[in-house]
Amino acid sequence: MPEATANIGVVGLAVMGSNLARNLASREGNTVAVYNRSRAKTDELLTEHPEAGFVPAFSYDEFAASLTVPRTAVIMVKAGAGTDAVIDELVKVFEPGDIIVDGGNALFTDTIRREKAVRDTGINFVGMGVSGGEEGALLGPSLMPGGSDESWVTLGPILRSIAAVAEGEPCVTHVGHDGAGHFVKMVHNGIEYADMQLIAEAYDLIRRGTGKTPAEIADVFAQWNEGELNSYLIEITAEVLRAQDAATGAPLVDVIVDQAGAKGTGGWTVQTAIDLGVPVSGIAEAVFARSVSSHPEQRAVAANLPGPVDELRVDDAEAFIEDVRLALFASKIVAYSQGFDEIRAGAAQYGWTIDLGAVAKIWRGGCIIRAQFLNRISDAYAEVPDLQVLLTAPYFVDALQRAQDAWRRIVAQAAAAGIPSPAFSSSLAYYDGLRADRLPAALIQGQRDFFGAHTYRRVDREGTFHTLWSGDR
Ligand code: NAP
Repeated sequence: MPEATANIGVVGLAVMGSNLARNLASREGNTVAVYNRSRAKTDELLTEHPEAGFVPAFSYDEFAASLTVPRTAVIMVKAGAGTDAVIDELVKVFEPGDIIVDGGNALFTDTIRREKAVRDTGINFVGMGVSGGEEGALLGPSLMPGGSDESWVTLGPILRSIAAVAEGEPCVTHVGHDGAGHFVKMVHNGIEYADMQLIAEAYDLIRRGTGKTPAEIADVFAQWNEGELNSYLIEITAEVLRAQDAATGAPLVDVIVDQAGAKGTGGWTVQTAIDLGVPVSGIAEAVFARSVSSHPEQRAVAANLPGPVDELRVDDAEAFIEDVRLALFASKIVAYSQGFDEIRAGAAQYGWTIDLGAVAKIWRGGCIIRAQFLNRISDAYAEVPDLQVLLTAPYFVDALQRAQDAWRRIVAQAAAAGIPSPAFSSSLAYYDGLRADRLPAALIQGQRDFFGAHTYRRVDREGTFHTLWSGDR
C-alpha cells in the first residue's frame, strides 16, 4: 500500500477530472491522488503531466491509503449511476470524518438522497456545482459546494485556492447544506440557456433587419461587450460570428446546422420551477426554443405555413441595433430575476440558508454566465437581503425604464415580421404580468368554478365562494 501523502484525491480522469486534478496540483501545498475506473486514463495523465507530481492509485484501497486524514476526494465521473457506483466504493474504504465531494452535474434531489445515505456512515458528502467547462476546471472554475459546515472547514481553503478570482475574490462560497450547491448550479445553467437564447435572438433580428453580415454583427457584439452587457457569452458570440469556415470561406455560423443540443440541466431548472410554482418563463422559452430547432421533420412540414417571411427592413440601422441592445438587456434582467426567484423558492422549500448576493458574486468569474452585471445583483441583495423581486431593485428599475420603449418596439416588430423571438417576448409578457394592476386570472377562477366547483375568493369579502352557474351542464 502507498504511504498517505496526498491531501486531496480525484476520482474520474476524463476531461473535467484530469483538468481539476491538474489545477489542484498546481497550487502550493497540495499533493493530489488520482484514480480512474479504467487504468488507461490514469497512465495517460501521469505520462502527460509529470510536473503535477500525482500519486496514482489503481484500486480504491490504494486510493484511500494514499490520502491523509481527513481523506478528501472529489468525484468527477459521468453523472447518475457512475456517481452512485463510485460513492459505494469510497464509503467502503473511507472512515467517519472523511469527505466525499461530487463535482459532477448531479440533479440536486440525487444529492439530497446521497447525502442522507452517506450521513449514517459518519462520512461527509458534499454535492458541488462546478461551472466553466474544461478550461474553467483547469484554470479556475466557479464552485458551488453544498454539504455540512464541518466539511467546509477542510474544503474551504482548498476550493478557494483553485477557484476563479473575480475582483480579488475567489468564486466559491459554501452555498448551503446537502443539495443546495447542485441546486444553484442547476439554476446557473438555466440562466445560461436564457442568456444564450436572448443573444441568438438579438443576432437574428439584427441580421434580418439590417442585412449586416455575421462579421459585421461580430463588431456590434464586441462593442456591446464594452458596456453594460459585458460578459463572457457576449464576448464569445463576437468570436463565433467572426469565424469563417476554412473549407468554403463562408461565415462559420452559416454552415452550422441550426439545431441546438442540450444536456438536460435547463430542463431540470424548468421542471423544478414548475414544482416550486415559480415562473421562469425566459428559461423555459430558451429550453423550448432549442426543442423547436431540433425537430427538422416538423419544421419541414410546417415550412410553408402562412405568415410573413423576412419582412423586416429597418431604415435606421443604428437606432434599430440600439433598440435590440436595450431589449436584450431588459430581457436578461428578467431571466436573472426569475432564476434568483427560483433559488429563493428552493431555499425556502428545502430549508437552505442561501446568500443570494454571495451566489451572484461567485458567478462573476470562472463560469459561463460570468458578467459585470452580476455586481449589480450582489449590490441589490446587499442593500435589501430579502428582496422579493430582483428587478424591483433601483438599478434594475432604472435600466428597465430606459429600455421600455425599445423593448416593446422590438417585440412588436419581430411579431409583425414573423421573426421568432420567444425569449424577448415572453420576458416582456412576464414583466407586464408582474406589474399589472389586475390580471385576467379572475376569469380563469370563474371558469374553474363553473366546470369544477373549484371555488374562488372575492375582492370584497373573506372566505371562499362557489356560484351556481347557469349553464348547460
Ligand atoms: P464524462 O464523460 O461525463 O464521464 C467519464 C468519466 O466517468 C470517466 O472517467 C469514466 O471512467 C467515469 N465513469 C463512468 N461510469 C463510471 C462508473 N460506473 N464507475 C466509475 N467511473 C465511471 O466526463 P467529463 O466530461 O469529464 O465530466 C465529468 C463530470 O463533470 C460529469 O458529471 C459532468 O456532467 C460534469 N461536468 C462537466 C462539464 C463539462 O463542461 N464537460 C462541466 C461541469 C460539470 P472510465 O474512463 O473508466 O470510462
